[in-house]
Formats: sequence, structure tokens, C-alpha cells
Amino acid sequence: MKTIMVDMDDVLTYGSFTKILDDYLGYHYNYDTVKTYYIQDILGDKKEDFFMKFKDMNMYENATLLPDCYDVLKELSKYYKIYICTDYIWREITQYAGNNLRNKYNFLYEKLDFIEPKNYIFTCDKSVVNCDIKIDDKVSNIEGAKTKLLFTAWHNRDLRDEELKEKNIIRVNNWLEIGAILLEDFK
Ligand SMILES: [Mg+2]
Repeated sequence: MKTIMVDMDDVLTYGSFTKILDDYLGYHYNYDTVKTYYIQDILGDKKEDFFMKFKDMNMYENATLLPDCYDVLKELSKYYKIYICTDYIWREITQYAGNNLRNKYNFLYEKLDFIEPKNYIFTCDKSVVNCDIKIDDKVSNIEGAKTKLLFTAWHNRDLRDEELKEKNIIRVNNWLEIGAILLEDFK
């Protein structure tokens, strides 16, 4: 059985962090203008104040899976070994990142009942994970896989098709596209 590494934030679930940022700022920020991967950089000198409030919040409290994610992953789990691999470290407040780890674990446990907790991988260095297929929104996280699927997000939208092709990366915009690619051989 081939193995798939699936990222969590902005692949399984989307938008919970930006909602918290908006609540903190008191207005809806136009995230289309953001180019940086660590979106909290928009806060500038308010970052420290934000994180002191943020450390006790659960980003996943009201989070949902992206459309079709559950059904496609469940179907994939019949033909592949699936590992959910997610970075839980809050770089600004590493001493509190254990809260994030617990919240992530609980979200996965509740939402993906067909994936065993032993298949969760919590690390910020995904290069140590050796899977045939990797699905992530960060280019550096999918390097090394035989099949590399880049999930579209604000910070990778500007990568051109030719650039991706050179790196043997396939762009995917939703879970139906992932299913179409990875289930093709099993129809
Ligand atoms: Mg991600």
C-alpha cells in the first residue's frame, strides 16, 4: 500500500486563524494582499499582545473540514495508508504550543474517525516523513515525495504553472481534484 502524508491547516481545514486575527483587529483584513506564509506578520508590533491573548484560544473550536474532504479521504483510506502530518509549533510562543498540539489532536480525533491516532504526526520538519505522496499548501513540505500535490492557498497562488511543472508539482484546488488524481487507478 502506498502512503500519503496529508497536511492539516489550509488543507483539511481552512480559515480559523484568519477569523481570530479579524476578531483581534476588529475588522476584516484583506488576506488576498498577504504574500508571507506566516500570516501573523501582518500584525507588526501588535504581535506580542495578540499572542498573549491567542495562547489560550482553540483555533479548532468551530473549525470544520473543507468540502468533500471527509468523503474523499475515507475513500482514499481503502487504497492508501494515510498519515496526517501537522506543525503545531507557535514560533512566537513556543512555551504554549502544547495547547495547540492538544487542540489539533482533538480536532483530528473528532472529525476523522476512520484515521487512527497512531497515524498523526506532529512535527515542523516534514522532511523526515517518507511518504510516496504528499499533500500540503507549502512547497518545501512536499519535496522528496514521488507525487507532490500543492493545495492552493494565499501564499502559493502566484507560483506559475511552469515553475510547478519544473518541480514536478501538481496544483490542486479542492478535495474533488485530489480524489480524481489519486483514485483514478482504482476505478
Ligand atoms: Mg498547511
